[in-house]
Amino acid sequence: MFSEVPKRLALLVSVCVVLTVLALVVTSFSLRIVFSVLVLLTAAIIFFSRRKDTNRSNPLPDLSQSPESFAVSSLFEATMGSMREGLLVVDKDMRVVASNPAAHRLFSPTLPKLNSQRLTELTRNPAIYSAFLDGLKGVESSGIKVETHGPERQVFDLRVVPIGGNGKGPEGALGVFFDITRTERLEIIRQEFLSNVSHELRTPLTAILAFVETLETGAMEDAESSQRFLSIIRKNASRMHGLIDDILELTAIEGGNVTLRAATVELHELVAEVCASLAAKAAANGVTLVNRVEPDAAVFADSRRLEQMLTNLIDNGIKFSREGGTVTIRHEPGTRDRIMVEDNGDGIPAQHLERLFERFYRVDRARSRDIGGTGLGLAIVKHLALLHGGEVTVDSELGKGTIFSIHLPKR
Ligand code: ADP
Repeated sequence: MFSEVPKRLALLVSVCVVLTVLALVVTSFSLRIVFSVLVLLTAAIIFFSRRKDTNRSNPLPDLSQSPESFAVSSLFEATMGSMREGLLVVDKDMRVVASNPAAHRLFSPTLPKLNSQRLTELTRNPAIYSAFLDGLKGVESSGIKVETHGPERQVFDLRVVPIGGNGKGPEGALGVFFDITRTERLEIIRQEFLSNVSHELRTPLTAILAFVETLETGAMEDAESSQRFLSIIRKNASRMHGLIDDILELTAIEGGNVTLRAATVELHELVAEVCASLAAKAAANGVTLVNRVEPDAAVFADSRRLEQMLTNLIDNGIKFSREGGTVTIRHEPGTRDRIMVEDNGDGIPAQHLERLFERFYRVDRARSRDIGGTGLGLAIVKHLALLHGGEVTVDSELGKGTIFSIHLPKR
């Protein structure tokens, strides 16, 4: 049986563990913050009750002696150790009296321990210092942004609460550092995406409005001009249409809303179908499509999605080839199946290769727009390949051509 004190500790630690699990599993950021704060408050209560109990005439049983107390203590340590949030408790003299491994990593991984260090010895950040100082005055602070400038930049949201005191003013202050590096990065990506989408939509929309206005102000009288203007309007409208289709497609794939129906796919036939659907465009550009896939070649994939990937890559091969060029499709079996789409076009300068699969990344923005590109085709191919458990790679030599390869795992 637990003695009175470990019983209370066991209860507190259990609450702490449950709250930690909740903080780890919930997806809502605000709920996470709420649970994490509750975890930390429970941890602080545990800490201070243990300190008080140690000071009493009837102190806590020696943890190393009692197996029950040892279990409680291990559970407590495991809870603190598994938290991603850094936890730091300081006393009235601004000395660290408790911390967890996440705080240790954040402040001074080279120091053997943080406890008994002064806060000023750990950080020179005035925002952190004044938040803890406010905590000792009984004032709660939150939303303080703390950045680390090591090799890996991290961003934290600091919240400090006063603790203890029993009406005689706080005995200490507890700070929790929420790691918001990922959330912040996602927010930047989201903003960039929105600004790219707005920009991409605005260009064709401006053209459409301008030509409609020209037609309205008299150009309609001239049959030849109005025909030309209407075809420009159509071209820009279909660009917007294509862009919206690609955005929806990419959002569905990235959001995990696309389910693959993988099966054995006769590759030669599939490539032949894609080539047939792009034959008119290839002919208009003076490009020859060559299907070099063996007649009996087979891969394991979702045929509709593989068709989509090949269409994007072959279409690019046509768009970025010179007149008289060739786009060749091959298959190389191995531990993984490799499907190559090779063109002998202009090639891509090496410095662009690393970012080529990013959304809206283009080597020549104006040229891509001019030939009806959305800048999303390769991002879609990348995500579809990843969804198959494979990847897409690129090799290119300036002036010689480009090879895109889809690597697919075997069944
Ligand atoms: P886009 O709609 O512009 O084709 P993609 O995502 O399909 O968008 O391609 C991104 C960019 O990669 C293109 O704008 C182009 O600069 C470059 N690119 C793609 N495929 C080729 C290729 N076969 N040869 C040369 N450049 C290519």
